[in-house]
Amino acid sequence: MNKFKRKQMRTIALMCCVLAVNLSACHGAQSNTESEVPEVVIHTQNLPASTELDVSDFSEGDLDRMFYSRVIDEEIFRRIDGKSYRKNHMVTIDELRYLRMLYKDINGKTHIGEMIVNQSIAADVLAIFRELYRQSYPIEQMVLVDDYDANDERSMSANNTSAFNYRTIENTDILSNHSKGLAVDINPLYNPYIYRTASGVEICSPALGKKYADRSKSFDYKIDENDLAYRLFTEHGFTWGGNWEDSKDYQHFEKAN
Ligand SMILES: [Zn+2]
Repeated sequence: MNKFKRKQMRTIALMCCVLAVNLSACHGAQSNTESEVPEVVIHTQNLPASTELDVSDFSEGDLDRMFYSRVIDEEIFRRIDGKSYRKNHMVTIDELRYLRMLYKDINGKTHIGEMIVNQSIAADVLAIFRELYRQSYPIEQMVLVDDYDANDERSMSANNTSAFNYRTIENTDILSNHSKGLAVDINPLYNPYIYRTASGVEICSPALGKKYADRSKSFDYKIDENDLAYRLFTEHGFTWGGNWEDSKDYQHFEKAN
């Protein structure tokens, strides 16, 4: 990181201390003083993602406030630099947002989730995951792909729900919409990406998800057109990889501009 970049990151870190974009404050509205950061956020913002949270005392308003967006501060930048984020001409760090959200596991327990997306879809993603939470949609895990060294196969195999990753589409040289933070993968182990190589070999990604490649079967976490995630993402203008013709990416929703 050069001197200018360091200065820029310090400024971003400072901004982050006083900035919390909050779902209940209407999408896009930003509070700009420290005193406006909601108490529930102050108490939980330093807990690592995956932490189970007892929300029995939380009001609906408190739960709303747990879905918020922040600029990428220095601490988050350190986690992603050289992993999911690499210097490039497609997306700047200022265009990305770090989201903190809640999700319910399959036993109905609440956990803290985290995700990085493009600022252009941040409000959509917050609203979608707020509704998934309200309707107890099961999600197994939601941490940054950087916790798996930005290795998509490892992240998918752990059934990790995630979004931003500066990478190409598997088996191609084409940049994925994940590279701009415009695509979200949900419960990927149970909703694998299935494609054919040039030589006609069918590949299931992650490999561990092969037993979920047969979509005529019924199983937990399965995304199809009757699924709540499908309904919410498509209502917000996203397309679903399960509707692609040449390949099927059942975990994948994207909103490319
Ligand atoms: Zn994807």
